[in-house]
Amino acid sequence: MKRNQKPATKAGFFNKKGKEPDDIINHLFEDSVGYLSGESISPPIFQTSNFGFSSFAEFKKALKNEKKYYLYTRGNNPTVELLRKKLAALEKAEDALVVSSGSAAVALAVLSQVKQGDHIICVEKPYSWTYTLLHNFLRKYGVEVTFVNGTQLKNFEKALRKNTKLVYLETPNSITFELQDLPAIAQWAKHHQLVTICDNSYASPLGQQPIAMGIDIVVHSGTKYINGHSDVVCGVICSSRTIIDKIFRHEMMTLGAIISPLEAWLILRGLRTLPLRMAHSTKTCQEIVSFLEQHPKIEKVIYPFSPSHPQYNLAMKQMKPLGSLFSILLKVHSIKQIERFSNTLSYFKRAVSWGGYESLHFPYAVTINKKEETDKIPWNLVRIYVGLESAKTLLQDLEKGLTAI
Ligand SMILES: *Cc1c(COP(=O)(O)O)cnc(C)c1O
Repeated sequence: MKRNQKPATKAGFFNKKGKEPDDIINHLFEDSVGYLSGESISPPIFQTSNFGFSSFAEFKKALKNEKKYYLYTRGNNPTVELLRKKLAALEKAEDALVVSSGSAAVALAVLSQVKQGDHIICVEKPYSWTYTLLHNFLRKYGVEVTFVNGTQLKNFEKALRKNTKLVYLETPNSITFELQDLPAIAQWAKHHQLVTICDNSYASPLGQQPIAMGIDIVVHSGTKYINGHSDVVCGVICSSRTIIDKIFRHEMMTLGAIISPLEAWLILRGLRTLPLRMAHSTKTCQEIVSFLEQHPKIEKVIYPFSPSHPQYNLAMKQMKPLGSLFSILLKVHSIKQIERFSNTLSYFKRAVSWGGYESLHFPYAVTINKKEETDKIPWNLVRIYVGLESAKTLLQDLEKGLTAI
């Protein structure tokens, strides 16, 4: 590549808006972006912090538009940029940023939209660090927040104030899996000139595309399905070019929450198998959900794509049935019994997070000392993530755990 030239995009990946999902998935494999005169099948890792210029004039041009040219890797780097373009195409967004964690994506997106004296309406039980950002951190800067049950539009209406600026959504959330009706809320928010942000980590861009339903900004924990290999922490922000340019120039450049070119390359690699991984683990998950729904030791299964979910119809309307994270309520009297269930599992590892190749479980009781301590989340809840192991192995593991109760 000639110094500081934009690479020619032979693959034509960069304008895939409006294409059918299958087209977009096929373009996940178009990595040969013409950085080199030969054909590098896998994209190069531009492991450089800095870029030099052939002339004073070129240097000046790049300094004026750091997002467009390659100047310094805190701003723009070709390997990271390739990933950004792919994620934007998948989300049907004009542009995207990839940042150092899902929490950074949430924080940068929220900070870009509020100032002192503003009010945010957020769904209750969002991701724990999103709650901390909105409830504790932003309060110090004079931003107020109201948490609402997001299953009914009228709850947003009731929380609306003169100074409301932002509506923060997460559908479904990642512990009790309540949904929000995205088109209805987006339309209502537009009517009141509110900006909407949606955390789309559960569904991934393959399962749900909030921007197409009228949402302004989509955020992801790329650590979960998008990277999918439990080896990189990253976050994604997708939106219009105007909003992304603004976040790039202000929040991202000043707070500096970037990923390295090597991490971008790993995520590009993970992304190639996103459709295969999601299809496989969803299929296994559906078998496991059917098994658990019949099991005498289970009080309840909470999975958006089970007809037993109270918002099943909405889930089928606005999402594709993709996802392998769900919760169970165990039929138990004590935390001790949950401990026995947990300690008996061997394939479902005891851990936070999800979206990797390995199955996991998170007994909510690890966060409390007594069962009376919980409020919105039932004490006997265990969150289950189904990875890529065989269905038979996983079913046997659960049966063993349930027997031990
Ligand atoms: C994990 C997670 C986050 C935070 O992402 P990190 O990459 O861990 O910072 C945000 N939202 C949801 C729904 C998550 O599951």
